[in-house]
Amino acid sequence: MTKITPQPGIMDIALYQGGQSHVAGVEHVIKLSSNENPFGPSPKAIEAVRDSAATLHRYPSTDHASLRAAIGERHALDPARIICGVGSDEVLQFIAQAYAGVGDEVIYTEHGFSMYPIIARMAGATPVMVSERDRRVDVDNILAAVTEQTRIVFVTNPGNPTSTMIPEVDLVRLAEALPQSCLMVIDGAYTEFVNGFDGGASLVDRFENVIMTRTFSKIYGLGGMRVGWGYAAQSIIDVLNRVRQPFNLSLTALAAAEAAVRDDDYLTFCHGENARLRVWLSEELAKIDVPSDASCTNFILARFADQAEAEACDVYLKTQGLIVRRVAGYNLPNALRITVGDEEACRRVVAAITAFKGGAA
Ligand SMILES: *Cc1c(COP(=O)(O)O)cnc(C)c1O
Repeated sequence: MTKITPQPGIMDIALYQGGQSHVAGVEHVIKLSSNENPFGPSPKAIEAVRDSAATLHRYPSTDHASLRAAIGERHALDPARIICGVGSDEVLQFIAQAYAGVGDEVIYTEHGFSMYPIIARMAGATPVMVSERDRRVDVDNILAAVTEQTRIVFVTNPGNPTSTMIPEVDLVRLAEALPQSCLMVIDGAYTEFVNGFDGGASLVDRFENVIMTRTFSKIYGLGGMRVGWGYAAQSIIDVLNRVRQPFNLSLTALAAAEAAVRDDDYLTFCHGENARLRVWLSEELAKIDVPSDASCTNFILARFADQAEAEACDVYLKTQGLIVRRVAGYNLPNALRITVGDEEACRRVVAAITAFKGGAA
C-alpha cells in the first residue's frame, strides 16, 4: 500500500481567509473588507485590458521589460533590480522559497500579514511570531527573536491591519542590527498612501540584505489583475528570477499595470480622496467613542470596548449592507478593520456605527 505524504509543514498551513463580499438577503452591499480602491482601476488600465484582448494568442513577455521600465521611471529605480510577480504575494513567496527551508526560521510580527506564516511553511521553514507594542512593529522585540536559524524578517510598513507605521530610523536600526545572512523584507503594499515615504527603496540601496515589495492591488485598484513587484540588490533579483515561472504574468496583467503606473493624475486623485476621507472617518468615529490610530493606509482600525462589542457592531453593519473585516485572527479581537471607501461609503459607515452605539447605550 502506498502512503502519499506532503512535504513537512504543508499540512500546518491554515488557509488564507479573504474579505467577505456578500451578505445573504442584503442588497447593495458596500465591501470595505479587502482594502480595495473604491474608485476602481485607472480608465487607462481598463483601456489597456481591452486592447490586450486582440493579441491573447501570443505568449507574454518573460522578462517584463516594459513594465519594469515604467515602474523604474515612476519611482526613479533601476529596472534591472525589479522583479514582477502575480501580486506581491508571489514575490514574497519567491523570497521564502529561495532563501528559507527546513530548519530555518522566518520572523513576522504579531499583527502582520497572514501570508507570511503561510509562505514560510510552504517553504518548509518555521514561522516565528514576534510581539508588537501598542499596535506598532517593535524593532527590539524582533532583534531579541533573531537566532542563528533566522533567514528572513518580514515587516509591513505601514502595517496591515494596524494602519500604523514605524519611522525610517527604526527600519535603519533594524537593518543595521540584523546579521548579514538574514534578509529584511519591507512589505510596502500601502506605501502610496503615505506622503514622502519611498517604501524602503533607499534602504535597499544602502543594505544588500534589504528587499522592498510593492503591489498594484491597493492604490492602483488592480487587485483582480494580480500584479506586484520587488526591488532588491542585483544578486538577490538574479536568485528570485530562477524560481519565477517564465510566463508568470499574463499579457493583460502586464498591460494593465503599465498603463496604471503611467497614469499619475489618477494616482493623485485616489491619494487625495483617501487622505481626506480617512481623516474624516477616523474623527467622526472618535466622537462616538470608537477611536483609531492615525492611519497611514487606506483603512482604519476602529477599536471597540471589547470583543463582544466589536463583533456585535460587525453583525449590525452587515445588516446595513456594510462589510468590514474582523481581525481577531490578527490578535486584535476588539477591533474592526474598515477600508476607506468613497464619500458615500464613509458617510454610511459613520451613520451605521452611530446608530449601533446609540442602540447599545
Ligand atoms: C494587500 C497586501 C499585499 C498585496 O498583496 P497582492 O498579492 O499584491 O495583492 C501585500 N502585503 C500586505 C500587507 C497587504 O495588505
